[in-house]
Amino acid sequence: MQVLSVLIQHSKTSLDRSFSYLYDGPCKVKPGCRVVVDFHHQLIMGYVDAVSETTLSREEFSRLNGFETHYIASLVDQEPLLNPELEQLCAEVADYYLAPKISVLQAMLPPSLKPSVSSLHGPKIAYEDWVEILDEDEEGLTDKQKEALRLVAANKTCLKKEAGTPAIVSALFRKGKIRIFKKEKARFIIPEYEKEKKPRELTLAQMKATKTILQSVKNVILLQGVTGSGKTEVYLKLSEEYLSQGKNILMLVPEISLTPIMVEYFSRRFEGNVAILHSELTPAEKYDEYRRIARGEARVVVGARSAVFAPLENIGLIILDEEHVESYKQDGLPYYHAREVAIMRAAHFGAKVVLGSATPSFETKARAMRGVYDYAELSERINRRPLPNTHIIDLRNRAIMMPNDRVFSKTLIEAIKKRLDAKEQVILLLNRRGYSSYVTCADCGHILTCPNCHANLTYHREDELLKCHHCGYVETYPETCPECGSAKIMRVGFGTERIVKVLQEYLPSARIGRLDGDVGKVRKKVASTLAEFRNQEYDILVGTQMIAKGHDFPNVTLVGLVLADIGLSLPSFRATESTFELITQAVGRSGRGEKVGDALIQSYNPFHYAVTLGAKQDYERFYAREMQQRKLTKFPPYYFLVALHFSSKDEQRCIRVAVEIKESLEARFGEEILCLGPVVPYYAIVGDRHKRCLLIKTKTPTKVKPFLGSLVRAVSGKGGIDIECDVDPLDY
Ligand code: ADP
Ligand code: ZN
Ligand code: ZN
Repeated sequence: MQVLSVLIQHSKTSLDRSFSYLYDGPCKVKPGCRVVVDFHHQLIMGYVDAVSETTLSREEFSRLNGFETHYIASLVDQEPLLNPELEQLCAEVADYYLAPKISVLQAMLPPSLKPSVSSLHGPKIAYEDWVEILDEDEEGLTDKQKEALRLVAANKTCLKKEAGTPAIVSALFRKGKIRIFKKEKARFIIPEYEKEKKPRELTLAQMKATKTILQSVKNVILLQGVTGSGKTEVYLKLSEEYLSQGKNILMLVPEISLTPIMVEYFSRRFEGNVAILHSELTPAEKYDEYRRIARGEARVVVGARSAVFAPLENIGLIILDEEHVESYKQDGLPYYHAREVAIMRAAHFGAKVVLGSATPSFETKARAMRGVYDYAELSERINRRPLPNTHIIDLRNRAIMMPNDRVFSKTLIEAIKKRLDAKEQVILLLNRRGYSSYVTCADCGHILTCPNCHANLTYHREDELLKCHHCGYVETYPETCPECGSAKIMRVGFGTERIVKVLQEYLPSARIGRLDGDVGKVRKKVASTLAEFRNQEYDILVGTQMIAKGHDFPNVTLVGLVLADIGLSLPSFRATESTFELITQAVGRSGRGEKVGDALIQSYNPFHYAVTLGAKQDYERFYAREMQQRKLTKFPPYYFLVALHFSSKDEQRCIRVAVEIKESLEARFGEEILCLGPVVPYYAIVGDRHKRCLLIKTKTPTKVKPFLGSLVRAVSGKGGIDIECDVDPLDY
C-alpha cells in the first residue's frame, strides 16, 4: 500500500501543508500526479507531493498515526504533470515567493491540468479520422472509388472527410485499399505567414548590441534601447543564433495585444516552430498548445506572463520585451514576477535572459549599473530618426480648451486635423488606471479619494453623492476643493467611448478605431483592430495603455496623451515611475516612419518631473532623480519589500494576528527590518472578510524571508485567519 502526501487547495484559505492519504490499487502512484480526495466530506483535487510504501493495513496505519487516514477517491494522472525541471522550479518559486506550492502549481499549469476539481470537466484531447494509402491498385473499383483512391495516393495521408463520402471511404477500407486512423486535432492553428525572403541587415548599433549579449559572461543582460531603436530585430537575431545551436527560445511579451505581432515576426523568420501560450486562448486551445510544447514540437514559445512556465526544454534564451511592464507580476497568489522566474529557469539551463526596455524597471537598471547584469544599449532610433517634438498642454488653463470641453484642448484638436489632412495617423491615449467617473479640482489637480481606502471616489448622479466602491464610504458632493479651496470642482467621467463620441463631433469625417480593456476581452477584435489601423483603415486609434507599448505604426505622426498624469495620484511608491513610463512609451509611438512625429501631452501637473522628463524621453535624468527619492523613503531598489495580506471574518482577530506577527519580526530582527502597519488596504473588505496589511522593508531578505515564511505557515489557515505573502510587491 502507498502513503501519499497530498497538497490541496481549499477555496478560502491557502493551506500550505500536505495531508496523508492511502492508495491500494493496481497502479503505482508517482509524485506529481493529481488525485481526488475526500477533505472534510468534500471531494477535492489534490496533488501528490511525495509517496512512500507501508506494509501496514489502513486500520493499523490510522492507529499508529493517531488519526483516521482515508484512501484517495481516485487517481487522475498516470504520469507526473511536470517534468523534473519544472518540478524543481515550482519548489524554487514557492520558496522565493513564500507561497504555497499548490498555488504555484495553479499558476504554472493550463486550466485543464490544474489541480482543481473544475479541471476534471476540462477539455479532452480532440481527435480526427485520417486515412492512409495501403494499395494503389485500382482493379475492380468504381470510377468514384478510383477518384478517391488517387486523391489519397497523391497525398499518402489525408483527412477522412476530405477523401470522399463515408460510403466510398468505407468501401475502399473494406477492399483493403486504405487504412483509417485517429490523429490528434489541434484546435489552435497559428496562421500561416509567408516566410521572409531575406532578413534585414542589422544596423551597426544593433550588431554591437547583439555581439555584447552573445559574448557576455553574465546570465542576464539589460538591453536598453530608446523607443524605435529596433530591439525586435535584435531579439530575432539572437534567437537565430541560439536556434542554430539547437537551443529553444522563450519570448515573453507584456500584453496579449502584442502576441500576434510578435508571433508574426517569429513565424516569418523561423518556419513552423512557433507556439503561443497566453491567457486569452480557450482552455482547449491552451491544452493543445501546452502538450504540443511538452512533446518538443515547438522551438519558440511566444506568450504573456504565464508562458514563462511553458514546458519547453533545452532553453537557450529567454527574452522579456518591455520588461518594466507591471503585468509581468501576478496580482494574486503566488504573486510571482515573470522576470525573476525567467532568471531561475535560465540558471537551470545555463541560458541567457535578455531584458528589453526603453524605460527599464528601477530594480533592473540598478542591477545593471552595479554590474550584476550586463548592459547593452541602443541609444538612437533606426536611421537616426529624431524623437518626436513634444509639447505639454496645461489642462488647468481653461482658455486653451475647446468650448465647454474639459478633455480636448484646442491645440490637440488642431493638431489632429492637420494630420488627417496630410493623410497621416493619430493615436490618442487614455490612462486606464484610476479611471472611472472621479472628481477632481481643475485648479490644483487634487482628486477626491476615500479616507478609508484611498480609492478614487465615484460620482453618482442619482443621489448626487460621492461613493467609495470598495468600502461603501459616502460623502456629499463638495462645493470647494478640500485641498486648495477652489470652487472649480469637476467630474471626469470619460471613457474611450466618450472620447470617440466627442472626437467624432469635432471631426465628422474621421475614421476612428477604439481599443481598450472592454474590446480587449475579445481576442480576435484586438488583432483585427490593430491590423486595420496598420492598414490605415482608421485615421485615429483611441485606446488605453495597451496601445502605448511596443507597437510600431510607421504612419503615426501624432500621439496625444489625453490625461497624462492621472497615475501620479495613485497611492504607490511607483506612481511617479509608472507615469514617466507611460508618457515615454506613448511619446515613443510617434514618428517611427519616414516623417517626424509630434506628441502632445495634456496634464494637470505640467511641471512635475515625471511629465517634463517623460516628454523629453530622458530616462537617465529621471532615474537619477527618482532614485534619490527611493533612497530617502527606503523603497526598492534600496530595500526589499514583502507585503503581508491578512484576512478574516473577524476584524479584531485580523488586527491582532497582524500585530503579533509584526512583534515577532521586530523581536527577532530589530534594526534589520522596518515593519509598517497594520494598515487598512485599498480593498478593505472583500466579501465578508476584513483585510489588513503589513509592509516589511529589509536589506537582508535572505535572512528575513525563511523566518517569515515559517511564521506565516504556522499561523495561516488556522482559526479563520488567512495570510498571503506578496514578495517584491509593485504597489504600496
Ligand atoms: P523598439 O522595439 O526598439 O521600439 P522596433 O523593434 O519596433 O523598435 O523597431 C523600430 C522600427 O525600425 C521598425 O519599424 C522596424 O521595422 C525598423 N527597423 C528595425 N531594425 C531595422 C534595420 N536594421 N533596418 C531598417 N529598419 C529597421
Ligand atoms: Zn473606501
Ligand atoms: Zn484644488
